[in-house]
Amino acid sequence: MNNRVYNFSAGPSMIPKDVLCTAKKELTNWKKLGSSVMEISHRSKEFMAVASEAEQDLRELLNIPDDYKVLFCQGGARGQFSAVPMNLLDTTQKVDYINSGYWSNCAFIEAKKYCIPNSILIKQNINEKISLLPMSQWRINKNSSYIHYCPNETMDGLSIYEEPIFNNKIIIGDFSSYILSRPINVKNYDLIYAGAQKNIGPAGITIVIIKEKLINNSSRKSPSILDYKVISEHNSMFNTPPTFAWYLSGLVFKWLKKLGGLKKIEKINKKKSDLLYKKINSSDFYINNIDDKNRSQMNVIFHLAEPKLNECFLKESSKIGLTALRGHRIKGGMRASIYNSMPLEGVISLVEFMSYFENQYA
Ligand SMILES: *Cc1c(COP(=O)(O)O)cnc(C)c1O
Repeated sequence: MNNRVYNFSAGPSMIPKDVLCTAKKELTNWKKLGSSVMEISHRSKEFMAVASEAEQDLRELLNIPDDYKVLFCQGGARGQFSAVPMNLLDTTQKVDYINSGYWSNCAFIEAKKYCIPNSILIKQNINEKISLLPMSQWRINKNSSYIHYCPNETMDGLSIYEEPIFNNKIIIGDFSSYILSRPINVKNYDLIYAGAQKNIGPAGITIVIIKEKLINNSSRKSPSILDYKVISEHNSMFNTPPTFAWYLSGLVFKWLKKLGGLKKIEKINKKKSDLLYKKINSSDFYINNIDDKNRSQMNVIFHLAEPKLNECFLKESSKIGLTALRGHRIKGGMRASIYNSMPLEGVISLVEFMSYFENQYA
């Protein structure tokens, strides 16, 4: 695997090389079964072992308390945009959706199909600096039955590092591009969900961590494959799960444990994003106008002060194996997604290229 590039894609994104090597080695003859893991029953004892080990490892990594269920779902994070209100509400209930950017707003729009969500804007632009209101200033409604928010806005490059502090409210988090990037206190949340293709593994699996007492909280009927009670009662195997994605996610959990867990990866992630933001800060050539306290450590967005140079930057960087730096189609500019699997060396290469490019074109 010497031809690997540093791939800064926002998702699907990089998977650790060691994990890919293991998968390659095991591909055609997994556990001496003469088959690949993709070709065997999800109910076989071999696959059941993979499934429960993956759950166990995730529980260890995140220190998930016993009164929480871990569900391996399908339908992506967008599936959860519907599943959350469908499972937790009756039609009349009011809920709060914190609007911090693109994805939290998408969740709000989907929720409108099922309930009456309040959209609470927390993004502010003061003297050309973008920041998010601190939690203590969020204007939560007294009669809302849950609060939904997104701690890392993948497209906007914005993060909320505070943990929720709202008493007597059900807290739901879209952790798609934040999960496993640093330790969190799961007890501060009632439901956490995340699509796998950002910081876990291949697309196709969606993790839901839910307080047991929230399951079956509604008299509404949901489609069975989005119904937490059905999924939970069938140990995430009500319908055929994406077995390969589950297996590979399990390998990623083992890789992360071996590396030293979330405290260790947090240090590495900080080092990576510090390097990149330091480079951006060092001159007026590259621009990111987000307040320090809300800068994402996972998705670093930036653009060139001279917009005409953006395309040239993308072309030249990709030529030397720094790929997928193009910003979101709505946003333009550049985005370096530097999830857990992006090695420090990849970020160092990018920073070196940025210095070179600046010298050439400034
Ligand atoms: C990518 C992403 C989504 C959408 O995920 P899908 O799995 O494609 O549905 C939702 N929320 C956030 C924060 C994301 O980063």
